[in-house]
Amino acid sequence: MTRKLLPTVLTALLTAVGAHAADTELNLYTARHYQTDEALYANFTKATGIKINRIEGKEDALLERIKNEGANSPADVFITVDASRLAKADELGVFAPVESSVLAERIPANLKADTWYAFSTRARVIVYNKVDVDPKLVQNYEDLARPELKGKVCTRSGSHPYNLSLGAALIQHDGAAATEQWAKGVVANFARDPKGGDTDQIRAVAAGECGVAIANSYYVARLINSTKPEDQAAMKAVGIIWPNQATWGTHVNVSGGGMLKYAPHKEAARKFLEYLASDEAQAYFANGNNEWPVVKSVTVKNAALDSLGAFRMDDLNVGTLSKTTAEAQMIFDRAGYR
Ligand code: FE
Repeated sequence: MTRKLLPTVLTALLTAVGAHAADTELNLYTARHYQTDEALYANFTKATGIKINRIEGKEDALLERIKNEGANSPADVFITVDASRLAKADELGVFAPVESSVLAERIPANLKADTWYAFSTRARVIVYNKVDVDPKLVQNYEDLARPELKGKVCTRSGSHPYNLSLGAALIQHDGAAATEQWAKGVVANFARDPKGGDTDQIRAVAAGECGVAIANSYYVARLINSTKPEDQAAMKAVGIIWPNQATWGTHVNVSGGGMLKYAPHKEAARKFLEYLASDEAQAYFANGNNEWPVVKSVTVKNAALDSLGAFRMDDLNVGTLSKTTAEAQMIFDRAGYR
């Protein structure tokens, strides 16, 4: 509903509210839109008395809006997905550091940067067709370039942040030259030109149009949990692999956020970010989208995710992925991975 309001009217409204209400309100710009997040916000308000005014939007559009609003932005906190996007927001100078011993202690060092924090993790997994592809052939991301997989590989666009962040991780682990060879190999193995989202790739693997694909773990969990007969049939036809268990671990990406530089309610912003790191919020925040909490002491029971088994994640600092994202994009462009 909020998306239908005129942005300028809404901005003026939020600014007016913020100016008069001190820190009894928080203006949250979020690219998350899960039902379970509602309960999360209600609990925060119950615990602190701070009301949340939420603006939902697409990741890139929200960032653009914060940038355009500049010093007049009513936004206190920005929540989005993908480490490279968070890093881009940081580079644009929209975030401000938060003084918080709670955040310093609870968010692991490899899941934060100077101005933003990850609050949940998701893994990029390999999905294969059980009839068409021998799982021994696809244990690592690097394997997707193997000549044996000619005509079998499907992915969403190479320009999508999920694939760019994976490319950025490959560059840091294997080097730029090997990553370029890899990208060329992947393109040479395509069953079809990249199209659709991760769920479309999983369905295409199940249908046999593709032999192997990559997808984020929460899309896999969502299909496992689906009650639709066609989704249940699809998930019987595919196998899931945690890639690179014998080498550098499975690539993980994050959803996260930070306080904005021009936040009118900085105290409320700090409290909200600390709340997201609390045991209760971590479980809600992560599980609402079938993700994992970042706070080590917090565990969630998610049957769909648990059914995939335990795995070792890449311990690369997600805040450093953005250092090689632009290079990944250039490499993918040269390889024709669009
Ligand atoms: Fe997604």
